[in-house]
Amino acid sequence: MKLLLLLLFLPALIFAQSKEEQRLLKKADKIHARAYTVDTHADVPINMMEIPGFDIGAKHNYAEDGTQIDFPRMKEGGMDAMFFAVYLAQGKRTPEGEAEAKANALKIFQSIHDAVKKYPDMAELVTTPKEGFATHKKGKLGVFIGMENGWPVGHDLANLKLYYDLGLRYITLSHSFNNDLSDSSGDPEGGEHGGISKLGEACIAEMNKLGIIVDVSHISDSAFYDVMRLSKAPVLASHSSCRALSDVKRNMTDDMIKLMASKGGVIQINFVSDFLRKPSEEVMISIRTLRMQAMKADATPEDKQRINAELRQLKYKYPGEAPSVKTVVDHIDHVVQIAGIDHVGIGMDMDGGSDVVGCEDVSKIKNVTIELLRRGYSEKDIRKIWGENTMRVLAAAEKVAADLKKSH
Ligand SMILES: [Zn+2]
Repeated sequence: MKLLLLLLFLPALIFAQSKEEQRLLKKADKIHARAYTVDTHADVPINMMEIPGFDIGAKHNYAEDGTQIDFPRMKEGGMDAMFFAVYLAQGKRTPEGEAEAKANALKIFQSIHDAVKKYPDMAELVTTPKEGFATHKKGKLGVFIGMENGWPVGHDLANLKLYYDLGLRYITLSHSFNNDLSDSSGDPEGGEHGGISKLGEACIAEMNKLGIIVDVSHISDSAFYDVMRLSKAPVLASHSSCRALSDVKRNMTDDMIKLMASKGGVIQINFVSDFLRKPSEEVMISIRTLRMQAMKADATPEDKQRINAELRQLKYKYPGEAPSVKTVVDHIDHVVQIAGIDHVGIGMDMDGGSDVVGCEDVSKIKNVTIELLRRGYSEKDIRKIWGENTMRVLAAAEKVAADLKKSH
């Protein structure tokens, strides 16, 4: 009888459900039209540097080439601004190595500047919330710049001003290996400074003076606690998720999230699959092996593209393990529960390993918004998550820098 009733009402049920979905989509459209949405970690410069002929002004197809970001898809998705990453895999910590890192970093800055110059009608380089909002008002996309790995700073802190003047507004102190500034959560040898080094301390002080946000993603737990003690300005974890939900070292513990929040900081949820849901040992080994290959100094762009394609294939090989937008919002829910709505944002890590079913590229970010709406988040909450919290941290970094200048 029950089954019969269900069968009888099924069409109506499906109709009601799809109507509800349509209502949510409409609401998400409205929110994206009004909100200022910012993602804090975009690795598209890797594609700009390494894929021959990659054109950020042309629309690409994720299913065909695996790329996740370009200006047309940002526009389509309702993504108003992204922090493009000046990313360098850790290399030799020698004067020569540092000089090479600096030269390569400058090349990446140049390619970002060239990209916005090539498409002045689509995008602008932005460095402050004010500039970001003004660009948005003109109907253009904003490109902020962050640096992933402080290695190109070398031992000359004057480089910070050089990068700042090129538009840099955050630095992830280390990448997956220790450097001269900080220990990394990923170094197979463990820590070597016990957290932040002396040089790292001086670097943070200088970053505070300039208004460059300290990014605590990738660094070791001890380094994180050092940053909490050292930074005069609120910080970001530009692309990290919750360790309570996926127990990997790249993620933040509840204690870390709460402490960072108590100092005004924000955790930007990362969409890399193993940071969202801890994979089985079998998958973890594949991921680790492939990533290590990609980070090798002699890995060619072709090698890296092949490795990325293999990483993407894992989700089809092990479909049960692939996280969805629901998993993403589980992480957002978790931060909201332990630290409050003012301390969570989004740093998808697209073109750097982001791999979520339902949000395959930047044109699909509304699916995250829809899931937030489904769980009862208000427009006000969603605006905070999608950008206002991040902009608050950037404004605070500016304010601390201005105050430090005045006190001198
Ligand atoms: Zn990263």
